[in-house]
Amino acid sequence: MSRGGEVHLACQETVMDCVICKHGQTSPGKVTVTLQRGESLIIFKQVIADVCENCGEYYLSEAITEKLLQRAEEAIKNGAKVEILRFAA
Ligand SMILES: [Zn+2]
Repeated sequence: MSRGGEVHLACQETVMDCVICKHGQTSPGKVTVTLQRGESLIIFKQVIADVCENCGEYYLSEAITEKLLQRAEEAIKNGAKVEILRFAA
């Protein structure tokens, strides 16, 4: 991971202890999130999240979760059964 100038914007506020393994700390990263609604499967790639360095568990912010759900609903309304979306913040 780069420790260069421009990538540690909000780090201080988002670092926390992982509630799953209780050892790792989270740091900003990107993950793949899968949502299932009935028969539809929506996969989001490149979602910004806080990721545990130890076990890999990820934590999404409320704002991001809301956006994901919104986009999933849209895809489902459009009749998607399996949709792979690249998440853009
Ligand atoms: Zn962990």
